[in-house]
Order: sequence, then structure tokens, then C-alpha cells
Amino acid sequence: MAKLYFRYGAMNSGKSTALLQAAYNYEERGQHVLLAKPEIDTKGADQIASRLGVSRPVDFLIAAGDDLRALFAEHRARVPNLACLLIDEAQFLQPHQVDDLLRIVVDDGIPVLAYGIRTDFQTRAFPGSARLLELAHSLEELKTICRCGRKALFNARLVGGRFVFDGDQVAIDELAADKVTYESMCAECYLRESGGRLA
Ligand SMILES: [Zn+2]
Repeated sequence: MAKLYFRYGAMNSGKSTALLQAAYNYEERGQHVLLAKPEIDTKGADQIASRLGVSRPVDFLIAAGDDLRALFAEHRARVPNLACLLIDEAQFLQPHQVDDLLRIVVDDGIPVLAYGIRTDFQTRAFPGSARLLELAHSLEELKTICRCGRKALFNARLVGGRFVFDGDQVAIDELAADKVTYESMCAECYLRESGGRLA
């Protein structure tokens, strides 16, 4: 039976690497996959890029208003014997698009592996991740460590090298005057930097 998988973690927990490895494993057995991601992520444009240096283009991008099931059907028509659909940056999907993923799994019988960040820089769930946590058959945490050595839970935002705890949920525009970066942190280190604030 096909399942909806959500593999989540803090930033830099190797999600894109795990996704590309999963795609490779299918293809090594002669099976075909489709790769997609929301187009809000401007960093890699239409690429899924592992920090280890491996990258490959997605088969399609998902716009905010897209009917994901219809979009998937369009692309599936080109791929005989499709084994699964892999989604990167799944936190940026809209909740109705995650609903579509469940329909692709249940009604179309295609497994979907979605990879994404659980929470934003204010420790709040991204809308796509919240819906995936609600709907996925299988949840798997991908782990990375904080600077102190504990498991990282949160993603602290830095602007121009200083921690900030106010701002828009999505700030990945590298053209901004002050460069936005993130640090994966454990709860203890996050609370120390935020002065006790969680949002
Ligand atoms: Zn820490």
C-alpha cells in the first residue's frame, strides 16, 4: 500500500541529501521517480542541491495556487511505471496541496516522500509542515546537532550575523541588504539567545 512519508528536521539536517539518495536508490533498481518543490525557494531555483555537492533539477515546480494533483497527473503521463513522487522544501506547500499529496497516495496509489523543515525561526510550524504532521502515514526525524552538541530542534535567524526573533516567516532573499542566515539550535541554546522568548 502506498504511503505519505514526511521526513522532517531542522535546517542542515541533510534533507536534500536524503531525498537525492532515495531517488538514486529507486533509479538504481530501474524505477522512475518525479522530483518537485515549491517555487518559493529562490535559493536553488529549479535545483535540489545537497550540501555535499550533489544536485539535480526538479521535474516540476509547484506554484502557490497550483492544483497539485492535476499538476502531478500532467507530469506522471510522461513517466511510465512511476515508483514515487519526491518533494523537497515541503514546508512551503500550502495545506490544500498537502491534502492533494494524500489523494495522490490513496487514490492514485503513488507513494509520496516529502522532506521539509518542521518549524520557522520563531518555533512555529510552517503551514505545509503542520498539515504533513497531521496527514502523513509515516513521520521520520532527520537529525542534526547544535553548536553545543545536543540535537538541534529549532532554526534561529541571523541578519548580518546577529540573532533576530521578529520578522516575516520566510526570509530567504539573499539580495537583502543584510544577509539572512540560519543556525540550527537546541532548545536550551535557542532560549538563551532569545532571552526566553519562543515567538
Ligand atoms: Zn545547543
